[in-house]
Amino acid sequence: MAKKRNNEPCCSFCGRADSEVMLLLPGVSGFICNDCAERAHEISKEYLQQSDHKGAADIQLDQLPKPEEIKNFLDQYVIGQEQAKKYLSVAVYNHYKRLAQTTDPDGIDIEKSNIIIVGPTGTGKTLLAKTIARLLKVPFAIVDATVLTEAGYVGEDIESLLTRLLAACDYNVDEAERGIVFIDEIDKIARKGDNPSITRDVSGEGVQQGLLKLLEGSIVNVPPQGGRKHPEQKMIAVDTKNILFICGGAFEGIEQKIAQRMNTHIVGYGATNHVSQHDRERLLHFVAPQDLRSYGLIPEIIGRLPILTNLEPLDRNALLRILTEPKNAIVKQYIKLLEMDGVKLIINPDVLEYVVDKAIEFKLGARGLRSIFETIMINVMYSLPSQKQKSYTLTLEYAREQLENSNFELLARQS
Ligand code: ADP
Repeated sequence: MAKKRNNEPCCSFCGRADSEVMLLLPGVSGFICNDCAERAHEISKEYLQQSDHKGAADIQLDQLPKPEEIKNFLDQYVIGQEQAKKYLSVAVYNHYKRLAQTTDPDGIDIEKSNIIIVGPTGTGKTLLAKTIARLLKVPFAIVDATVLTEAGYVGEDIESLLTRLLAACDYNVDEAERGIVFIDEIDKIARKGDNPSITRDVSGEGVQQGLLKLLEGSIVNVPPQGGRKHPEQKMIAVDTKNILFICGGAFEGIEQKIAQRMNTHIVGYGATNHVSQHDRERLLHFVAPQDLRSYGLIPEIIGRLPILTNLEPLDRNALLRILTEPKNAIVKQYIKLLEMDGVKLIINPDVLEYVVDKAIEFKLGARGLRSIFETIMINVMYSLPSQKQKSYTLTLEYAREQLENSNFELLARQS
């Protein structure tokens, strides 16, 4: 029943009168003040978070996408890179299995299989990670290893990697503890040079040691806002035991390490030196943990990244497919944009070939496709919407003229 004091309605929870609180909300048979409502919200949020955890991570194996389905999904967005897609699909599926596992009667614990992807820049590492994130039902964060330094130096502490993950799930620690972190540019924390003792290597081995702790699984105190600018902030303890780490890096020049290793091997077996016949780029196919070690990653880190896969350099054919095939391919986006103005865009096939050839010529790879196509289309996109035209055909002649008249070539050659 609604309480009243001196005929004034009161909060049914704390008993304070209407005049003593900011807001008093009426219910069916009582009132609640804003303070009690807020408190009730806090308590129910805490309770829901706890019960979420209790449900063995509430993951039902039969409702999960199977590795083949995960790969089919990746196929819609990422061209080629078959091996990496397969490895990722299995790893992510196993990660779910691990989370679904309560206690195994046979006492078999499924171990975490963190992944490392080696591949030239612009071949789809980040795209793979982002695409997987669309499918996932666990929190996901992409972080860049370049900003990391050892504690006490200018830059970010290792723990800040987890700040992003926490932010991705609204600071729900239980959720974050079963998430996936993609660490980009892992090669940038490789030890520089063979003798680390000459100068202090603030962004090399020390950072790797810090990262190792996260990969191994430990309880880490994470600054909620990242960085060290907020020394007063309360740390959040996060257990990394069930967090899956996917690392990516270009490892520029690693082909030399692979070639060196293979060379020795072949010579050791009395064969002639065949390594020089290998296409340099194709050497990446043979990347092995030893090569990561020669590149400057410490063996302990390599041991914690048991799945090693590589991305292929993108050839002309792959670039052509990237222009048109992915679900959100650049060409599809332009067709859609003009469709909204009632204009049908027809692109002559030789235009696509021209765009790809220019991307190769300027050494821009897949990243360049978009900027070249945008440069060609800018005037069309500017004028077509105000014209009454029902269709527009993009010809090679026009495309060439647009690119040559822009300063694109100049900029591309400078970069
Ligand atoms: P990186 O390997 O350096 O992380 P990204 O994944 O960021 O490269 O690729 C840059 C852009 O190039 C992507 O946003 C995408 O548009 C395109 N791209 C690169 N590789 C592929 C691929 N295999 N399939 C489809 N698009 C790709």
